Amino acid sequence: MLNFTVGPVMLSQEVMETGAQQVPYFRTSEFSAVMKGNERLVKKFAHLDDKGKVVFLTASGTGAMEATVMNVLSHQDKVLVINGGSFGHRFVQLCQIHHVPCTEILPEWGHDITDEQLAAYDGQGYTALLVNIDETSTGVLYNIDRLTRFCQANHALLIVDAISSFLADPLDMTRSHIDVMIAGSQKALACPPGISLVALSERALRRVENNDVESMYFDLKDALRNAERGQTPFTPAVGILLQINTRLRKIDEDGGDAALVRKTSELAANFRNSIQDMPFEIVSHSLSNAVTPLHPTTAKAYDIFTTLKDEYNIWVCPNGGDLKDKVFRVGHLGALTIEDNQTLIRALKDMQKRGLL
Ligand SMILES: *Cc1c(COP(=O)(O)O)cnc(C)c1O
Repeated sequence: MLNFTVGPVMLSQEVMETGAQQVPYFRTSEFSAVMKGNERLVKKFAHLDDKGKVVFLTASGTGAMEATVMNVLSHQDKVLVINGGSFGHRFVQLCQIHHVPCTEILPEWGHDITDEQLAAYDGQGYTALLVNIDETSTGVLYNIDRLTRFCQANHALLIVDAISSFLADPLDMTRSHIDVMIAGSQKALACPPGISLVALSERALRRVENNDVESMYFDLKDALRNAERGQTPFTPAVGILLQINTRLRKIDEDGGDAALVRKTSELAANFRNSIQDMPFEIVSHSLSNAVTPLHPTTAKAYDIFTTLKDEYNIWVCPNGGDLKDKVFRVGHLGALTIEDNQTLIRALKDMQKRGLL
């Protein structure tokens, strides 16, 4: 199997070997050391300063998005959400469910927002901005500097869902004044799904401290208290946290976040160059390294997904809803190589020869 979806993605040999071990009991100093190591390396790769903290939740990425909305925001906030696709829409839904007043900015499909669009909300008392920095459904990477400028000028919190972007695109919480960064285990972290994480700046931590949360499982105050000693309030996905530890230490050995971002960018560039003479249009006008969204001009997108899966044992990522037949995505996350890219290209060329493209 060759997996080019945007999560779960291909695991490295080391991560698979860690996953093949027995799962240990976790209320131990050994497991606390693993958790402390995970926090230290996430902080290092996210460029979060010493006053920031990271909590690990046993939940998919959406769980961390929900925990963030519940713990960092309240009904007293006035929140701006960039809604450029299904993940932006999810933030809007979460604000509505948790009674956080929000306004959505709707970018043109497949485009970044513009300075003019954002300027319309300047000086209106917005207290936070929520963005999925790579809107994975369309493959649009928003310009972080523009969002930082807006948040700084408006004294608003900058909350970034970087679930598909963390370790694939450059990200620096300190330099970009990011207050919350959300990531998940099954995207560029390239581990099985089941763990998500929330990295919080000092300012975001103060918000959490002063907020009353009506939840037991998603109470970040409790999670942060436990994290002081490298523990979690409830039984976490111990095995996946051990795999994350293996993965983070390997990334560190191999040159850290900068080296992994560079590798991902080279892999994405190689794929994008290789399809130049093929019947595909790249539909995003501001691309993340994580994924290439394609509109096939001679075939239905979902048919391409099905044929690749059933006849070539290669998985690309279909789109849902209205886009099902129009767009599919090729991910560049996880243990993929240039050679794997070329295997996919050969399969697509073979489909062309067979008249399927
Ligand atoms: C994958 C993803 C999520 C989370 O999805 P889960 O299925 O809950 O893990 C959220 N936001 C973005 C931008 C994503 O790419």
